[in-house]
Amino acid sequence: MTINRIFALSGLLLILGIPTSSIAQEEPTRSITQITGDLYRGQNNNHFTVFLVTEEGIILTDPINPGFSAWLKSELDTRFDVPVKYVLYSHHHGDHGSGGDVFAETATFVGHENMLTHMAMPPESTPLPLEGQYAIAATMDANDNGLIEMNEASGAVLANFVGFDENEDGVLNGAEVLRGPISQVREPELTYATNMVISLGGKDVEMTWVGEMNHSSDMSVITFPEEKAMHIVDFVTFQRLPYREMDFENKMFDEWMTAINHWETVSKDYDFISPGHGPLGGASDVTEWREYFDQLQAAVSEGIATGQSLEEMRENIALPDYSDWSGYSWLHENVLGMYHFLTDE
Ligand SMILES: [Zn+2]
Repeated sequence: MTINRIFALSGLLLILGIPTSSIAQEEPTRSITQITGDLYRGQNNNHFTVFLVTEEGIILTDPINPGFSAWLKSELDTRFDVPVKYVLYSHHHGDHGSGGDVFAETATFVGHENMLTHMAMPPESTPLPLEGQYAIAATMDANDNGLIEMNEASGAVLANFVGFDENEDGVLNGAEVLRGPISQVREPELTYATNMVISLGGKDVEMTWVGEMNHSSDMSVITFPEEKAMHIVDFVTFQRLPYREMDFENKMFDEWMTAINHWETVSKDYDFISPGHGPLGGASDVTEWREYFDQLQAAVSEGIATGQSLEEMRENIALPDYSDWSGYSWLHENVLGMYHFLTDE
């Protein structure tokens, strides 16, 4: 679609009262680029996956979402003419793990065993959550019936409505909101506890559990030993700030830093580090990511020590070394998250 046609269509939708943001989402940036040898990187806007092509089939990491995975399947069929035999999940979150169904005929789905715990539906009596990334949903319950009807939903809750609505009844209950927008994530049929090697066509791919931490408890780093390459998602990203409030309500900041430090060391043996968000990089990018936390923690610690209020810190703290990273406008939310990490009992 040309820019002019997008503008024309946007104008029409404005007249009709339809939000134009839905149009922008229909034109995702998608690409496939070679990392090295038979290892490739797939892109859907700000989300990235990797896949390894072997004579016996393809080992794919995160399928990202149904639109992307359908597009990817057709690209893979055309370019390589071998089926996807494995889908290896980094973790259960819907923005990375959705859309695997399209590969279900040929692929085995693999993830850390804690994916199943994260994906289990909480009890039906669960109220709309008051903390966490989707606590905002509770503020949308205009008729105060404890459910979010589609006409009450807005923002990220509306954008992910289908993802939340596991029982497809057109309303979201507290259990569905608490569980998260993961109804399009296909459950792993093969799970592991500490690490697992998947072999296909003479190639090995290794999944390693990252451990308990705030982001999720089912995170796998997926490594390609022969290619000296690594797929690492969300607990490490490149040239992008940590997402908003950093899941502070889950605590476990120390565990997160332990994981970052560990993988910073491991990454030095790898030539290609492909994050789930941000450009392909190397070990120095993991170091820059760790240094960001060092600076953020130092700034918030100093604010606390000098008696600043949280609001003052959110307004005043700047980390100019990172002003060219994407998500820099989230800095005040990172400050909030770090404040809680450092002060919550
Ligand atoms: Zn995630």
